[in-house]
Amino acid sequence: MSTEPTIFERIIAREIPADVVFESETLIAFRDIAPQAPVHLLVVPKTAEYANVVELAAGNPALLAEVVSTAAALAAEHCNGEFRLIFNTGAAAGQTVFHVHAHLLGGALEEGKLAG
Ligand code: AMP
Repeated sequence: MSTEPTIFERIIAREIPADVVFESETLIAFRDIAPQAPVHLLVVPKTAEYANVVELAAGNPALLAEVVSTAAALAAEHCNGEFRLIFNTGAAAGQTVFHVHAHLLGGALEEGKLAG
């Protein structure tokens, strides 16, 4: 496990600002600073225990289910309930922050476009 807190831990701790759209005891969601779609939110478990979705699925499947249901609720609010959910897993796949997070993309998406 990394000793340096990731940027998401610093957002969760309110050490750096973010445009937070949802927060619960277990999750936080905020707008991506470099949006790839008209709606681009990050849904982030507060725990720093899991670096990616594979670790989260193995270690806490209920929390992963909460990420998905929260994404659906946020999509209902921000983009008519239709959305793309992306978990970049590994640096070669475009992951830059090694604290599990879902990209929620919605709005008029370009055909075939992926976040990264
Ligand atoms: P990933 O590349 O899947 O690890 O996703 C990390 C995402 O975090 C990227 O889409 C970045 O644009 C986003 N990001 C990095 N720093 C911030 C920040 N301070 N506030 C909001 N989003 C950020």
